[in-house]
Amino acid sequence: MTVLANYKTLVKEVSQLTERKVEIVPVTKYAEVDKMNALYSNGINNFGESRTENLKIKEEHFPDANWHFIGHLQTRKVKDCVGKVQLIHSINRWKVAKEIDKRAKKKGIVQKGLVQVNVAKEESKHGLLVEEVFSFLDSCSELPNLSITGLMTMAPLTDNPEEVRYVFKGLKELRNKLKDNGYSNIKELSMGMTNDYQVAVEEGATIIRIGSKIFS
Ligand SMILES: *Cc1c(COP(=O)(O)O)cnc(C)c1O
Repeated sequence: MTVLANYKTLVKEVSQLTERKVEIVPVTKYAEVDKMNALYSNGINNFGESRTENLKIKEEHFPDANWHFIGHLQTRKVKDCVGKVQLIHSINRWKVAKEIDKRAKKKGIVQKGLVQVNVAKEESKHGLLVEEVFSFLDSCSELPNLSITGLMTMAPLTDNPEEVRYVFKGLKELRNKLKDNGYSNIKELSMGMTNDYQVAVEEGATIIRIGSKIFS
């Protein structure tokens, strides 16, 4: 199947799972420019990258792209991201939040981002623990040039996505709890990849990040 056909199949599958609008972010970290162009030339311009180096190489090919940064962000790479991507999904520590705010201020913009949460408490994964998110958001609210609009998580790798349903449920419950406590900007749930997006959508994902299902 072609890249475009894969994408269309995905759109259809998602629409069969929910009536809500779910934003699809095609993850292009392993995709060559010509494969990306199969989407771009058909008006699909949402792309997710996990490395700032790739952003630099690819952005000139896709001037109207809506970039999402989804990878682990090093403080010194923040400047290569701010103002170039519409959403940074992977804000996972205070140093990075502060640096984003500083760089956004310099550019005279407000950068949107999500807080990455390690719901499954995996040692190997980045992200805040659920119980750390409230105070982290309180700190971020003092950064005028950073706007946190939601939460992101990655589920552990598994052959059976039902085993990680609790991760997506956990992120949704956290978002709802935040909303109930006055954190009204926290709306987005970026969760679900090729192996587990069906379950993530069922649990309320507003953004899914899909690489291999589209590009391989
Ligand atoms: C690679 C990646 C994805 C996409 O993974 P697939 O399994 O190829 O769909 C999604 N989110 C993050 C953070 C990634 O690094």
